[in-house]
Amino acid sequence: MKITEVRVYSKQLPMASGYNMSSAAVGDPETTIVQIVTNTAHIGWGEICPTGPLPQSEHAGSIQADLALLGPALIGLDPRRLGLVHDATTSTMDGGHGAKSAVDIACWDLMGKAYGERICDLLGGARMDPVSTYYVVPIGTPDDSATLAQNLQNAGHTKLQLKAGGRHIDQDIAVIQAVTETIRPGVDLFVDCNRGWTVGEAIQVSQACAHLKLAIEQPCATYAECAIARPHLRHPLLLDECADSLATIATAIGTGVADGFGMKLTRVGGISAMRAIRDLCEATNTPTSCDDSWGGDIIAAACVHVGATLNPNLSRGAWISDPYQVAHYDEKHGPRIVNGTIAVPPGPGLGITIPSGYFGSPIASYS
Ligand SMILES: [Mg+2]
Repeated sequence: MKITEVRVYSKQLPMASGYNMSSAAVGDPETTIVQIVTNTAHIGWGEICPTGPLPQSEHAGSIQADLALLGPALIGLDPRRLGLVHDATTSTMDGGHGAKSAVDIACWDLMGKAYGERICDLLGGARMDPVSTYYVVPIGTPDDSATLAQNLQNAGHTKLQLKAGGRHIDQDIAVIQAVTETIRPGVDLFVDCNRGWTVGEAIQVSQACAHLKLAIEQPCATYAECAIARPHLRHPLLLDECADSLATIATAIGTGVADGFGMKLTRVGGISAMRAIRDLCEATNTPTSCDDSWGGDIIAAACVHVGATLNPNLSRGAWISDPYQVAHYDEKHGPRIVNGTIAVPPGPGLGITIPSGYFGSPIASYS
């Protein structure tokens, strides 16, 4: 099997409902689709969709520029030889994890289709199917947030992520207290600040809520700030935005800075990189999620396949943006949340089938 063409597509993803966090509001993100064509009947799909130019260092324009460098370097390679694909992309450019991740996902899709296996089975097999997920309670008032938290628990959710930050911490504390009063036995609550607190604010909030059962996710902007806050926090500390490589994650675990992670597949290099992080977390009894910042069915399927292979005792769930999407690329097998869980798509590779011409004409093609 040889790669003969790499096509790039762009698509706006209209949102069914709003979503906000301390760092930015999310509105109709632009997703970038990678379609890898081979000399066999198989094609592979990859995707990368930052929420916009603010919350992340990469955006659609930078990712598409990166693909202009990476696309030609892939021609002639066997997409099943992921190590050699990795060598080709890393010897072409430094950085560009988003574009490299989309390429990696497409190669895994192709490998699954070539071997007639689901990606989760190539990764060792599904330990969970359906896969647990978590649901976001966005920045809001105490009453609105508590009502939503109750409704989500009524709908079967057992993992809730409460957004915080970007306002006076007294408001955050009031919302945290209101929401924790609704939390039922067996339900986990994570307060995700998306880098919105200073070190002092993180310490104040944690100590004010010391009697409440919750974990704090990415309270401060940088790894260094989180590490400084860590000894003074009264809750487990989860890292998300600054957990940007296997090396950083290994350091965070080894030095006791992090008690767990919120992992984004396309921040670290795709399915291949997330597999290594999965194994490191399991070896060190460290919880992690497997999700991504945004995206359609391709990203969602990739997250669910990897998420299915996490140790259930250490899984923080696989978040997907399904509840905010107005349509699926694959209306039958596109991943969706039902009773707080997500079924793994059944077919080989990613397990989704995208109608011909769905994304229109490619914005770029390399052959
Ligand atoms: Mg997070």
